[in-house]
Amino acid sequence: MRRIAGVELGGTKCIVVLADEQGRIAARDTIPTLDPAGTLAGIEAVLDGWWHDGGFEALGIASFGPLDLDRASLTYGNITSTAKPGWRDTPVAGRLAARYGVPLAFDTDVNGAAFAERRWGAGQGFDDLAYVTVGTGVGVGLIVNGRTTRGLGHCEAGHMRVARLPGAMWPGHCPYHGDCVEGLAAGPAIAACAGRDGATLSDEDPVWEQVVEALAQMSQALVSIAGPRRILFGGGVIVSRPVLIARIEARLRSLIGDYLKLPEADFVMAPGLGALAGPLGPIALALDVMGEDRL
Ligand code: ZN
Repeated sequence: MRRIAGVELGGTKCIVVLADEQGRIAARDTIPTLDPAGTLAGIEAVLDGWWHDGGFEALGIASFGPLDLDRASLTYGNITSTAKPGWRDTPVAGRLAARYGVPLAFDTDVNGAAFAERRWGAGQGFDDLAYVTVGTGVGVGLIVNGRTTRGLGHCEAGHMRVARLPGAMWPGHCPYHGDCVEGLAAGPAIAACAGRDGATLSDEDPVWEQVVEALAQMSQALVSIAGPRRILFGGGVIVSRPVLIARIEARLRSLIGDYLKLPEADFVMAPGLGALAGPLGPIALALDVMGEDRL
């Protein structure tokens, strides 16, 4: 059994896992995400324990962003312009790479989840796949031709602008863009628009039309630009209201019309790994760096 360590660095908690190449988790620990110094020290304490008790061959880190993923950049491996207090310009990958000296993978939490779904979940066999999480934000992991996108930065489709429903005047909730997809469809946006927690709303509440419209338009753009063979929707908002998946797919098909041909079934789905897609993300990223994905 190979031993791979992974860190899912989330906005509220970090999940540290030790797993094998089959995605079987041998050990896991959870650390609250507080200030960078204390949080990273807590992660290192867990990893140190495994390091001194058998070691690990590679380390994956799947983090909330935005991240600097440009290997030519002096700040490669950092969390960059996040609004999370204290975390702006925090070195993460470089610090852990120096500590353990094993092959290291670093990417967004959603790209990690997309790779985990591709390896073990509902994206198996697909070199082109999108993984969308709708929770406190809207994140999109995007695999194109077997790799995540790079360029100026990783996929930020959750912050794209979409056309509003006729007559919609609510300004949206994103601190950067107002009515981007995240500003219309994330959990805090739903609560701000409805005036109460989205979990207390009925399936017929009009706020869901806004959510479905924004996510369907974003999906249409993903299909038009990157051609994913499947789009997976997870995250707290979707998990608590799975009926949204079918509504998003129906609206997506309507928006595309006859112009592009989508698979007739199972194009928009829930993640196959459920809540494990996140924690297994860094393991999948690390295995990819090790070249295991070509086996
Ligand atoms: Zn935005």
